[in-house]
Amino acid sequence: MAADIKMLFCVGLAVVLTGVGQSGLIGKSHGKGKDDPVLQYVVNNSVREHPVLTKLRLRTLEDPWNIMMVPSEQAQFMAILIKLINATKAIEIGMYTGYNALSMALAMPENGHVIACEIEDTYVKIAEPFFKEAEVDHKIDVRHDIALKTLNELIAAGEAGTYDFVFIDADKFNYDRYYEKSLELIRKGGIIAIDNVLWSGKVVNPDPSDLTSQGLDALNKKLHLDQRIDLSMIAMGDGLTIAIKR
Ligand code: CA
Repeated sequence: MAADIKMLFCVGLAVVLTGVGQSGLIGKSHGKGKDDPVLQYVVNNSVREHPVLTKLRLRTLEDPWNIMMVPSEQAQFMAILIKLINATKAIEIGMYTGYNALSMALAMPENGHVIACEIEDTYVKIAEPFFKEAEVDHKIDVRHDIALKTLNELIAAGEAGTYDFVFIDADKFNYDRYYEKSLELIRKGGIIAIDNVLWSGKVVNPDPSDLTSQGLDALNKKLHLDQRIDLSMIAMGDGLTIAIKR
């Protein structure tokens, strides 16, 4: 266990050191900050992308909303966390075109299972052929529905306390609800990863008229005081909070 914590710390520290490049808090390997030479060095010297992940990333870059794709170095970091805790049950709230769901499925053993929530039909249609091509479609259960409904269905089915890993990356309006449902579904020692917690830095003294930034700031402050979890907020991508259920 001590070795696990040490490894987690080292990974986290490396991320913190590399995440704050010339572009500040919004460094991403694609989208904003992609021209940051330090970030490019990180990507060039650490990212190992499965060939189908590369194809899906390139396909997603053709989509006008590709800023929503999880950066490759962040997907790899979460895949490392999945391996570290031997996760076999995961949920992704907000799959988009499936880059991170595919990355999680590839990181899991043969009995691994990802529930991927996505409401947009277009994105589900982009994702599914790539899951098949990577031969992990049997590990990914796409729930083409309202995410809160899916989470409530899982709880009603007696699945509370059984998940190892949840990634929250859907509409920011429901983030607090997603967090509370995730906390219910996750086992003790399981991880909740929350994306976009820095919101391009706009959570710092958020404008009173900016309800999204206000909401994210309030959630960040709530998590900081939340005794149900241990946490680490990482300046990677657009900000990633890692919470472990006590
Ligand atoms: Ca995101």
